[in-house]
Amino acid sequence: MAKIIDGKAISTQIKDECRERVTAMKEQGQHVALAVIQVGNDPASSVYVRNKKKACEYVGIESLSYELSEETTQEELLSLIEKLNQDQKVNGILVQLPLPKQIDEDTVIRAIDPRKDVDGFHPQSVGALCIGQPGFLSCTPAGIIELLKRSGVVIEGKECVVIGRSNIVGKPMAILLLRENGTVTVAHSRTGNLKEVCRRADILVVAVGKPKMITREYVKEGAVVIDVGIHRNAENKLCGDVDFADVEPVCSAITPVPGGVGPMTIAMLMHNCVESLKLQ
Ligand code: NAD
Repeated sequence: MAKIIDGKAISTQIKDECRERVTAMKEQGQHVALAVIQVGNDPASSVYVRNKKKACEYVGIESLSYELSEETTQEELLSLIEKLNQDQKVNGILVQLPLPKQIDEDTVIRAIDPRKDVDGFHPQSVGALCIGQPGFLSCTPAGIIELLKRSGVVIEGKECVVIGRSNIVGKPMAILLLRENGTVTVAHSRTGNLKEVCRRADILVVAVGKPKMITREYVKEGAVVIDVGIHRNAENKLCGDVDFADVEPVCSAITPVPGGVGPMTIAMLMHNCVESLKLQ
């Protein structure tokens, strides 16, 4: 039987560590505040924003909420970001994606002061990650590294395969695994022999965005499988990119959905907010 990697428990550990640091900072008169901007009322985004605010409350970080209408113009959003960039009481700025179609996401991400870029999406943060300099790490892949380390999975020297090359998950994931001395392959929609490539993996990270696509045919016996996908099926139940019931018997460890990677993303956001004080 595979070990089930408990993202909920590990994320609570991280949030508790953050809470201790925030309490100590408060005793020294330091304060941490995160500005959370949501444009429109996409229901999935509202759930994510609510969970982020709840995590802030748990950790002791002040969350400042900006709920803008679906019709907000790019200029209006950029001017709010500029105001928050200048505001010394704001340590982190988070713009919940996706944005309505009249707003260009890349322009918005570039407008955030890199010292407040707690999502780690700014080109400066991504560049720093690539060359191993200090900066904010993208929360989902950074959370996966923590999951692996805190579950006792050794990355160094291992064959790591990441399926997916998005800017938010696949690419930063590959770089972080490389930084941990893994031997990394990035597979994507144009990869030939995907099953063969995946079966090389000691650590298989799946961020493909296709419900239950990865079955045991993609998995080497004894591999560690990390499922980044989040989908709702016809019965409104959550599932991942991995067919858990099919894969679990052949791997040595696996993350469930829900309760695997998902909670780690928010925990790492809290970590980045606490770290932001060092950069400011
Ligand atoms: P994306 O759609 O931007 O990227 C998917 C990647 O998969 C692409 O790079 C593409 O090349 C590759 N791909 C698509 N079809 C493929 C195929 N048939 N074979 C091989 N590769 C294929 O998605 P994303 O933003 O990287 O997210 C991936 C999944 O992770 C989604 O289900 C998303 O909801 C989830 N996600 C979860 C969290 C979390 O906190 N747990 C965070 C971000 C994303």
